[in-house]
Amino acid sequence: MKKSLDTLARKEGRGTELVSLYVPPGKQISEVQAMLRDEYGTASNIKSDTTRKNVQDAITKVQQRLKLFRQAPKNGLVIFSGAIPQNGPGSERLETYVIEPLEPIKVYLYRCDAKFHLEYLQEQLREKEAYGVLLLDANSASFAVLKSKHLEIVQQITSGVPGKHRAGGQSARRFERQREAKLIEYFTRVGKHANEIFLQTPNLKGVILGGPGPTKYDFEKGDFLQYSLKEKIIAVLDTAYVDEQGVDEIMERAPEILRKVRYVEEKKLVQDFLYHVGHDTGLATYGEDDVRHALNLGAVKMLLLSEGIDIVRVTVKCTVCDYTAKETMKEQVLSNFQQSLTEKHCPKCNSQSLTVGEVKDIVEELAEIAEQANAEVEMISTETEEGQMLKNSFGGIAAVLRFKPSL
Ligand SMILES: [Zn+2]
Repeated sequence: MKKSLDTLARKEGRGTELVSLYVPPGKQISEVQAMLRDEYGTASNIKSDTTRKNVQDAITKVQQRLKLFRQAPKNGLVIFSGAIPQNGPGSERLETYVIEPLEPIKVYLYRCDAKFHLEYLQEQLREKEAYGVLLLDANSASFAVLKSKHLEIVQQITSGVPGKHRAGGQSARRFERQREAKLIEYFTRVGKHANEIFLQTPNLKGVILGGPGPTKYDFEKGDFLQYSLKEKIIAVLDTAYVDEQGVDEIMERAPEILRKVRYVEEKKLVQDFLYHVGHDTGLATYGEDDVRHALNLGAVKMLLLSEGIDIVRVTVKCTVCDYTAKETMKEQVLSNFQQSLTEKHCPKCNSQSLTVGEVKDIVEELAEIAEQANAEVEMISTETEEGQMLKNSFGGIAAVLRFKPSL
């Protein structure tokens, strides 16, 4: 799913001619068809012959696909259709994709745009992130999976390890050896179950270990978990219980744990950027202009955007001629800027007719460009020292690069 969304995200139309349709479960297909007929009619007003044809062809294709469904599937239905240039302008070919979402979609949406609207499907994907929870003590272990806001126990096993107190008459050393062997056998079984359950969990982002006392640490130290799972351990916590109650304890603390995990990730991301800055590798850049330049060159591997910046990208347009320009400014000065425009003259036709068109959050705007440039985007909070540094010392906009851009 992620891969097909990534592929779709790279597709771009010649102009505003790619159709995205989201049909939520329960929606009447006939109602959707009626809406599409209206949109087809509206599209006949499009001035450009090519655009009109492409949009109407795309709508027709969507209607045809929709006819194959008597009703929306249980999670709803998403259809993308549009003329995609295959190899430069003039080489457009109509491409159509029908996607059944992983989870029920909530929106009913028709859009015609220069790109496909994937955000609602991408959101679902993010919500799909899962965490494995393993609670254990010397007596028993529970395996659970935490997905969005649900924590479900998958399995529980008992250890078969005898208590610490030997029966009378047994040799102390012999008892200890036997107990040790049983414990290792138990840890091996726990590891096997954990490997089976967690490696099969799609989108597993991390593993949380818990339980009372030192058993969980002994388990962690050994090689009972598969290497890739061991790498994913994000927290080892004390819980009073290893059963349902222990799972409840984890559940209660999960938001805090995940927030901390995210902070650690954010710190690492910014530290990576700082490394390149500090070592002058040429693989880091910051500030709006330089980052924009690198994005346009396709040089950005990872775009870091601070949640703390309130900068907007404003389109200025002339209401008389076709002059447009873009300016970047702090959100607070927007109304002053708007006022100052009334006294300015259009650089093209010289009439006093400049006005503010689209106002876009710069974070949103850069994230969109990054998506098209196939760069990863990370939003960085200001909750960590590194996050503060990104905002205050680097203007909140920074990038780690794939290659050194020539200037
Ligand atoms: Zn003008």
